[in-house]
Amino acid sequence: MSSDMTSVSVPKIRDSRDQDQFLTILTREEALVRFEAALFPRAMPAEARLLAAALGYPLARDIVADVDVPPFDRSNVDGFAVRSADLASASEASPVRFVLNDEVIGCGTAPSRPVLSGTATSISTGGPLPRGADAIVMVEHTHPVGISAIDIRRAASPGQFVSYAGSDIARGEAVLRAGTVIGSREIGMCAACGIAQVSVVRRPRVAVISTGDELVQPGEMLRPAAIYDTNGAIVSAAIHENGGEAVFLGAIADDEQQLEAAMRKALATSDMLVLSGGTSKGAGDVSHRIIARLGKPGIIAHGVALKPGKPLCLAVCDGKPVVILPGFPTSAMFTFHDMIVPVLRRMAGLPPRSDAKVTAKVPVRIASELGRTEFVMVSLVDGTEGLIAYPSGKGSGAITSFAQADGFLKIDALADQMAAGSEAEVTLFTPHVRVPDLVIVGSHCTGLDLVTAPLARAGLVVRSIAVGSLGGLAAAKRGECDIAPIHLFDEKSETYNTPFLSDGLELVPGWRRMQGIVFRAGDARFEGLSAQAAVRAALADPGCTMVNRNQGAGTRILIDRLLGEARPDGYWNQPKSHNAVAAAIAQARADWGMTIAPVAHASGLGFIALAEEHYDLALVTARKQRPAVQAFLDALASEETRAALKQAGFRPA
Ligand code: AMP
Ligand code: MG
Repeated sequence: MSSDMTSVSVPKIRDSRDQDQFLTILTREEALVRFEAALFPRAMPAEARLLAAALGYPLARDIVADVDVPPFDRSNVDGFAVRSADLASASEASPVRFVLNDEVIGCGTAPSRPVLSGTATSISTGGPLPRGADAIVMVEHTHPVGISAIDIRRAASPGQFVSYAGSDIARGEAVLRAGTVIGSREIGMCAACGIAQVSVVRRPRVAVISTGDELVQPGEMLRPAAIYDTNGAIVSAAIHENGGEAVFLGAIADDEQQLEAAMRKALATSDMLVLSGGTSKGAGDVSHRIIARLGKPGIIAHGVALKPGKPLCLAVCDGKPVVILPGFPTSAMFTFHDMIVPVLRRMAGLPPRSDAKVTAKVPVRIASELGRTEFVMVSLVDGTEGLIAYPSGKGSGAITSFAQADGFLKIDALADQMAAGSEAEVTLFTPHVRVPDLVIVGSHCTGLDLVTAPLARAGLVVRSIAVGSLGGLAAAKRGECDIAPIHLFDEKSETYNTPFLSDGLELVPGWRRMQGIVFRAGDARFEGLSAQAAVRAALADPGCTMVNRNQGAGTRILIDRLLGEARPDGYWNQPKSHNAVAAAIAQARADWGMTIAPVAHASGLGFIALAEEHYDLALVTARKQRPAVQAFLDALASEETRAALKQAGFRPA
């Protein structure tokens, strides 16, 4: 356990504004200890399962063999069953002759004649040893004499090539112990003993409820201001992965009565309840208040010094664990894996997870909040001196950072940062991490996916990390990627990209993206105008709201040029992507902005072309000869890719 186990360095905070809440923040270790103390020891009931359906379950009881394996003395080779004493004098010079008994013992043939002195019986591998015989001589060591006799020219020891009854498994022997998790080998053991059904620990039934007025289930239409319920699916899957049986009960609105009814019903029919959302101190957050009424001892911890995941709520109600995970999917998953999985696996009778770990260097400083154990998702890339762990967090609200990361590193509660260049232990999400063949770090464009598609089909693993053009150049300079896609406009030279290259980098022309004014199709203020005229029209209408772009974006430079000194309503709304601009206009939070043509068209928006932006690829020269880089360059130049880029609205260079 880590060093912050006992140093409860975090101040105990009491919030006097809201006394019905449990607001003492515990360290993660203290919270786990208290949670487990309130839950264990406990035993899950056993259930009988057919052998084939028992895979992955822990045995509830020892398995004792009630037969011998093998059930009889058995020949291990094809040959002849003999009395070894008959061969005492046998040698190359003086062969011993045996008369063959009128019987061939195959597999599954019960012998009917004894082997008397001076006789031998033909026997196959797996055949039962006949009465009188005590050894087998391999067929290769015998010499036929006519059809009814053989000569043998070597001695045989008693028991030669014989497996005795019960030598593998003896009747009455405990062959598997309670708690053993059944894998294919254990299934084999049981089958050999003739066991068709085993008693296993029943999987804990875990009810899963998502909470929030905004949640819609995947497959349904997304209404305005709603989002898809991610936690329901991901938590259910993680429960299955860790030996539980998830029963997903859907998303319940933030309504105290409705939620309480659902929670009571869920608890009545399951061993554990996992909710997500509604655990912060927001006005609509009610689940933790309900828990207090569901049974003793109630809330064990509400507020854990974890990042992400501080609002985690752990409770035990009448012996059953009740958990409220934070709403943000990545926070929900980290807290689930860190705090709930140990408890779930213990309930399920499974050993603790043994996650694979690797050591990697952190290329950039990672700031961390003092007093909270912080988990940072990382992508691994191959550096010149070993693995590099690239923080891949887009914030706790981003699901992609979780899905695309290889693992995570942990920053101790007592540390306020992880310094650039430090070595960190990375816990892998999957045991066999495959370091990508090609690493692309920089500005992301949907056109890039069209270039890398053939590489993926050829079995190459491509990782693309979106950090913006400048971040990509910095990574390329540090040698952490192969390619940095950039679109940077230099005002002095009025050119794209080339002025930004440093030593060791070279530019490969990519494609052009038409930038222009976007608006809702049919908006009479803009239809049919030039970009300049459209901006004049926007500025003339005080009710018109724009959406800007972030400082440093190439698009922002174009916007500022068009606006001059003007600062219209919406100017300070500065999202970081083309898609966010389109979404703001499509949802009428803004009336106009600037984005690239493919994005405007994909959202069904009106578009007035202004200028072409150059999206090029800064290549790390030292890595140019790598096969994956060559494959990328080939793909970029191919007719197929060029056609796909054109089709998507880009203009290949
Ligand atoms: P809450 O803890 O309810 O305040 O939620 C925090 C954030 O997580 C909000 O942005 C919610 O919309 C989001 N959220 C809550 N539950 C879910 C869920 N099941 N799936 C995806 N996002 C969620
Ligand atoms: Mg909520």
